[in-house]
Amino acid sequence: MDLDLRATLAVHGLRARPPVRRRAGAGPSDDGHWSLGGGGGAATLPIVEDSPFELRESGVLTRDGVVVEDALLEPVLRPRFYDLTTADGVPYEKLARLHGTEVLATTVVQTCIRYTAEETRCRFCTIEESLRAGATTQVKQPGQLAEVVEAAVRLDGIRQVVMTTGTSNGPDRGAKHLARCVAAVLERVPGLPIQIQIEPPVDLTWIRRLKDAGATAVGIHVESLDQGVRERWTPGKASVPLARYEEAWAEAVRVFGANRVSTYLLIGLGEDPDELVAGAERLIAMGVYPFVVPYRPLEGSLAHADGVPAPDPLTLVRVTRRVAGALRAAGMRGADQGAGCAACGACSALGAVGG
Ligand code: SF4
Repeated sequence: MDLDLRATLAVHGLRARPPVRRRAGAGPSDDGHWSLGGGGGAATLPIVEDSPFELRESGVLTRDGVVVEDALLEPVLRPRFYDLTTADGVPYEKLARLHGTEVLATTVVQTCIRYTAEETRCRFCTIEESLRAGATTQVKQPGQLAEVVEAAVRLDGIRQVVMTTGTSNGPDRGAKHLARCVAAVLERVPGLPIQIQIEPPVDLTWIRRLKDAGATAVGIHVESLDQGVRERWTPGKASVPLARYEEAWAEAVRVFGANRVSTYLLIGLGEDPDELVAGAERLIAMGVYPFVVPYRPLEGSLAHADGVPAPDPLTLVRVTRRVAGALRAAGMRGADQGAGCAACGACSALGAVGG
């Protein structure tokens, strides 16, 4: 799928009823999951009921009723592990979800110190909404995750795992529980690539301990490199200075290696596009993969309540093309992360231009 169509769909979404979709929770959601024809990988696209795009049951994509010729979207089928339940009665589907075609993703702790008060909550985030809706559990136990991952690998061909977490109060910022979960999963399925996602721990030795637990890659997500944007959009996280993120990224590259570290950069928070690209280039020079994705107005988030729209597709196309060019020039491919969002690529348009 070409970049213009990929970006337009990422912004406008589509009307569709795919078998695998996700409401609320951590990261991008309110979307459906497809695989792109011609070996184009996976795509998560927002489900938007008044979108001009419609994916009909026949598989034909239309825009304002006119067939879009070069679209090939194959729905990802409901995985078999969703029908299983742990010995203590928790449906596997509440513990981990299929993302794209081959990623198992879980939020090991579904609550976050930043989310408690609106003054500190990230305005795009809905991490606790899926918990409130009863779609997930607050804390996933390492043994439960090992059980789910083993089944998802065996029954549904899962090839990598993403573990994220709400931020805890402790100096590990949630890394301790992540390390336990990584170790338990690898004991059950040795060698499976796992990415963990955390805020910079107060105690940076946790980065080494996560690597020692067996993690393949790490995401330390800043969302914006513009301090003014951070203060407006991620006021709690903005209390952690950008300099601290840089220290954490540098330590993570030292421990995990170049292009095994990534960060989300959101397009559409009001940042200057040239500065966003320049910041992405600085990250690339450090060995950190800037996973650029459009801001999604998720139902239940503060920004959605304020009516903040998704970015315009043209800005998304321009930024994505320039960042992908810088990644190619540096020889950094998302797939080389081994695990994680950059390796999956479904929530970004970078994959459409070789990022
Ligand atoms: S890019 Fe990340 S959040 Fe998006 S589908 Fe892939 S693993 Fe999930």
